[in-house]
Amino acid sequence: MTRLSGKVAIITGAAKGLGLAAAQLFAAEGGRIVLCDISEPDLAEAVDSIKAAGGDAIAVRLDVTSEDSWNHAVTRTLEAYGSIDILVNNAGIIITKGVLETELDEWNRVLGVDITGVWLGAKHVIPHLKAGGGGSIVNVSSVAGIVGGFAGDGGSAAYSASKGAVRSLTKHIAQWFAGDNIRSNSVHPGPIFTPMFVLNGIPTREAAGEIFRGYVPLPPHVGEPQDIAYALLYLASDESKFVTGEELIVDGGLVS
Ligand code: NAD
Repeated sequence: MTRLSGKVAIITGAAKGLGLAAAQLFAAEGGRIVLCDISEPDLAEAVDSIKAAGGDAIAVRLDVTSEDSWNHAVTRTLEAYGSIDILVNNAGIIITKGVLETELDEWNRVLGVDITGVWLGAKHVIPHLKAGGGGSIVNVSSVAGIVGGFAGDGGSAAYSASKGAVRSLTKHIAQWFAGDNIRSNSVHPGPIFTPMFVLNGIPTREAAGEIFRGYVPLPPHVGEPQDIAYALLYLASDESKFVTGEELIVDGGLVS
């Protein structure tokens, strides 16, 4: 398992859910992983799980909305590993409210994490990818960044707006930095059972599958974090070395 042998990957929102699954898979593939998250207790547990499996990883507290925090994360990465090859902008939050119900502070909070955080990650990491001769940025968007929503998702105006912006920022980065051998792609998950579901009142994967049965044709009608981790691994690794500006939808057929 050496698809990321020796490569240094920063993954945001890595303390749980999709980010943790990606960190565990990337480490199993020989990567040196910098797990970044705003939640320190979860982060410590996440790094321990990787080290226990023989992986090479460090934890850095990062609030993706803060430039100071990004400066710190990049500095810690360079101190620990000397270079950066891969950035996975995965941290995200959702507030399930429509255009009419969303308050301005809620709008700003979601956009702050879900799109400003992605831009700040790119801004702070790209100079180091360039210095190393290139690299791969993979941004986690959503099917909500492809279509306006579907009856089963509850609807979130700020989330859809952010995830659509992640898609176009990804393509912008792909165009502007291809000459530096920096690739930029987005992954668009459909419903994947993670702690985000539990926070939103859906306690089990079975319950989630029942909710999405009418929308996601492939059983079990809701994905698991590894489904996304494998997509992220492909786009992070050299297996996709001629792929940039692309969007990879992993949704069990939801928007097809
Ligand atoms: P999650 O809530 O399980 O994990 C998100 C992580 O991001 C948490 O560990 C959280 O602490 C961290 N985080 C939140 N704010 C942060 C900040 N300001 N700085 C740093 N870290 C922060 O969520 P998840 O389901 O694993 O989602 C991961 C990504 O996948 C998100 O971008 C989400 O929008 C996207 N996504 C998820 C699904 C799904 O069904 N789970 C579907 C489509 C897209």
